[in-house]
Formats: sequence, structure tokens, C-alpha cells
Amino acid sequence: MSVGRVILAGAGPGDPELITLKLLCALQSADIILSDRLVHPDICRLHARASVPVVLVGKQGYHPGSVPQVDITQRMLDEAMAGKTVLRLKGGDLAFFSNVLDELEALVKMNIPYELIPGITAASGASALAGIPLTGRGFARSVQFIAFHPSTEDSEYDRLACDLENVTKVLYMGAARLISVLAALRERGVDGSMPVAVVEKATTTAQRVHVSTMEEAPAQWAGLDFGSPALVIIGRVVSLHHRFDWYEPTEAGTTPYPALPSV
Ligand code: SAH
Repeated sequence: MSVGRVILAGAGPGDPELITLKLLCALQSADIILSDRLVHPDICRLHARASVPVVLVGKQGYHPGSVPQVDITQRMLDEAMAGKTVLRLKGGDLAFFSNVLDELEALVKMNIPYELIPGITAASGASALAGIPLTGRGFARSVQFIAFHPSTEDSEYDRLACDLENVTKVLYMGAARLISVLAALRERGVDGSMPVAVVEKATTTAQRVHVSTMEEAPAQWAGLDFGSPALVIIGRVVSLHHRFDWYEPTEAGTTPYPALPSV
């Protein structure tokens, strides 16, 4: 039997219409789909062939119901070795803070043909739908995308605090520990008036945007549990939100994402 192939694709930030035409074609040619949790379920429901299995290989932080990466990679290899066209769907862009490298290395090692399809990362989606242009002229000269882990060290806080007057910082996976992050930045001299935003479920019909400042956020957001997934934006550009807040979500309080199994 001849070997199949793997298409690794970014499925966009949330809104199921924010996918590429290339992904649309891939959805129609796949024999099996392995999908991350942060891929909007409508993407497969509406565009994949009805007979095609969609396997949820979700991961959520350190959630015990997460599927281990080795199992995901093995399943992907097994299906391709069995001659199938495997579509591996990841939230946002396929390469931003994902395990794409593990999967690529395994594919190369096994000599399995593959293709990469980029997607719109959460920062771009959140930026557009929250009306916060990430490098708005006069407000920021560059932007950094940063992933937050429980093991984040002091030196990383130093880097995060650095040059916030010119550089917008977007934190992936950082909302749960935001108050302590803000305290660490204040200790490093970041101005109390520096605005900060949290965008929950960006680009979905349940999107919520919270805006505050370094100084006021700890009191304003105390006890608030930001809905997953959430993205943090720190920088002067955040002040543009109140002028360009055009998007009106219609389903506040809901979530389009499937829950992981409880174990
Ligand atoms: N590859 C993805 C990121 C994976 S890391 C991408 O390019 O977007 C997962 C983190 O991305 C989440 O913890 C959250 O911080 C962010 N994220 C993904 N989708 C999001 C959404 N719709 N709204 C807000 N944050 C999101």
C-alpha cells in the first residue's frame, strides 16, 4: 500500500469564516481529521465530507483530559502510513505556540509527505475584532508575541517590561496568571497608566474585551475568571479600543469550544 500524506493547517482564531481557501480545499480532500480543541467545531461540521472521521485530540494547558502529544503524533503517522490523507488542524496559525515541530520531525523521520497551510493567529484575530491595531502608527513600532508558562522566570519578566512605550506585547496563555504578571511588571517600573486588554474567545460570537490599566487592573479584575481561551495585550495601542470597538458579539456567556473529557 502506498503511503498517504499529512496536511498541517492553521484553522484560524475562532470565527469559522476566518479560514483560508487552501484549508477549505484540504477539508474536502481529507480522509481523516485530527483537530485541536481551539478549532471551531463548525469548520469541520460545515466543510469536511460527511463520512470523514473528526478526531478531537485536544489539549488544554495541563488539563488531565488532554491527549498526550506522543499519542497525537503516533495517530497522525499511523493514519498516513495506512495510505490516508490526514488533515491535522491547529487553532490560529499552525506554528504559533504549538507542537508543530514534534509533528514535523516525526514526519520527516518516517519519510511521509506533508504540506503546511498557515492560519490567522489569535493575536491578529483579537486585534482586528477588538479594534486594537497592534502596531498603530504613533502608538507602537513593533509587536512581540509571547507565550506564558507556569515556569516563567524573572528574566522573562524583565524582557516583558522592556520598552513597553514602543513595543506592543501580546501574551498567549497568560490570562490565568495576569494579576501576578502585572504586579511583576509594576515592580520593574512599568507606568501605572499603561493600558492592558484581555480578549476572551476572540473573533467568536462570544468574544469579550476587558480594558484597564496596570494600576487599576488588580482591583478591577480581582476574582474575575477570564473565559478560555484568552489573550492579553499590553501597550499604548490598547487605548485605541474605545474608538474602534466595532464588533458586537451576539452570544455573550456561551462557548463554541468543546470541553475536554473529565478524568
Ligand atoms: N496556534 C494558536 C495559539 C495556540 S496557544 C494561534 O496561532 O493562535 C493557545 C493560546 O492562544 C490560548 O491560551 C490563548 O492565549 C490564545 N488563543 C487562541 N485562540 C484564541 C481566541 N479565540 N481568543 C483568545 N485567545 C486565543
